[in-house]
Amino acid sequence: MMTGQEYKDSLRKRNIKVYFKGELLDPETLIDNPYIKGHVNSAAMTYDLAMDPKYEDLMTVKSHLTGEKINRFTHIHQSTEDLIKKVKMLRMISQNTGTCYQRCVGFDAANALYSTTYEMDQKFGTNYHERFVNYLKRWQKEDLMVAGAMTDPKGDRSKKPHEQADPDMYVHVVKKDDKGIVVRGAKMHMTGMVNSHEMIIMPTTGMGEDDADYAVCCAIPVDAPGVIHIFGRQTNDDRKTEGEIDQGNAKFGVVGGESLTVLEDVFVPWENVFMCGEYQFSGMLVERFACYHRQNYGGCKGGVSDIVTGCAACIADMSGYGKATHIKDKLNQMMHLTETLYCCAIACSAEGRPTAAGNYYVDPLLANVDKHNVTSMIYEIDRLAQDVGGGILATLPSEADLRNPEVGHYVEKYARGVAEVPTEDRMRMIRLLENMTGGVALVESMHGAGSPQAQKVMYAKLSGLANKKVAAMKIAGVDPEKYAK
Ligand code: SF4
Ligand code: FE
Repeated sequence: MMTGQEYKDSLRKRNIKVYFKGELLDPETLIDNPYIKGHVNSAAMTYDLAMDPKYEDLMTVKSHLTGEKINRFTHIHQSTEDLIKKVKMLRMISQNTGTCYQRCVGFDAANALYSTTYEMDQKFGTNYHERFVNYLKRWQKEDLMVAGAMTDPKGDRSKKPHEQADPDMYVHVVKKDDKGIVVRGAKMHMTGMVNSHEMIIMPTTGMGEDDADYAVCCAIPVDAPGVIHIFGRQTNDDRKTEGEIDQGNAKFGVVGGESLTVLEDVFVPWENVFMCGEYQFSGMLVERFACYHRQNYGGCKGGVSDIVTGCAACIADMSGYGKATHIKDKLNQMMHLTETLYCCAIACSAEGRPTAAGNYYVDPLLANVDKHNVTSMIYEIDRLAQDVGGGILATLPSEADLRNPEVGHYVEKYARGVAEVPTEDRMRMIRLLENMTGGVALVESMHGAGSPQAQKVMYAKLSGLANKKVAAMKIAGVDPEKYAK
């Protein structure tokens, strides 16, 4: 297993092409870039915490493939206990970072692919599972950070991949020979991509026969020839080039640092291809990946909400209204919502089941409810936090003004709450809350792991409305047979 420092050192060796604000960044020093380094520090915590004996049980596990001790982020779940430990691990890491640490996406891709490749081989006699297992052994041994790359640009959403005016709106195979395949297209909103070693390309939706070229899954190094990353902007990101306080969470940043990743005719050898044309299985892969990722949200956002709640409570104390009944009530509501998020993540894990390949899969219905809760409850938690935090969240002068010789003493004097609390401490807490409850953090809670509508469509499919109707008719004394079609 790597330490956080070894992980960072390994990133410097990549020949990765990353553009940001119109400039190509130097691959060796990219991870020191002020706009990127917080995300790297956060991902590094998935390595460092695995070295901490206190978290050994959550962060490490024995590989079912090699028997070696591995980082849990490279593991294939062998039981419901593994699924539950994953959620507990995510909540714990969020409590240490206050933000996304990005490594779950590849982790979820691995677990979805493990079972899907197995079932594909059963049906078609292919050898994708064996290829994937070989790849996974290296992933585990080298303790890689692998980005999960699912979301295509999608162009006109009313059209299927092959119907698009521009055929590259979904990643597709443009060439095949005895050595491998060539893929073209792009993946968007790629969390942690610029600080990963490799990426797993997956289809983004269920496909039909006409879209067979788009049913492709493969592993590609992030610095393979033809791969170009364009790093995205965030709300208030220029604060990252200023002092520390105004950033709120200067060490770990906010959300995951997302990129647009372009694949300009990228060659992939067959050994790294795990689906190529088997459109019948693209839906299964998408659904399994999505459910594993939706499982996470009650864990990772639960931990993030713990920090938001603690931060709001600190601001109340530092401002002298921490003991007010209505503040305590709001903090209690925030805690109730946070634990509700967590309950769902634990529930979908506890209700997990083995797949045909033997690894464990979450309860898909409960996993969708878990993520769906996040799309509204985080807004409510953050709304309450902003209520508790006060209007100063939006009006506080800058750190530069605090340090200014002419006006600094005014900021120091008038931004103070309780006399015993240094102004700078109060400012730090206010900035943290501003950072965690605004801008990209909320958008990520809405759309990360799929927009709310993607969860709603799963309810109709998974929750058995027809059975509910029959049960209700029986209780009311109506013969369900009469209505059976
Ligand atoms: Fe992991 Fe949460 Fe970040 Fe997704 S949003 S990668 S689940 S920490
Ligand atoms: Fe996410």
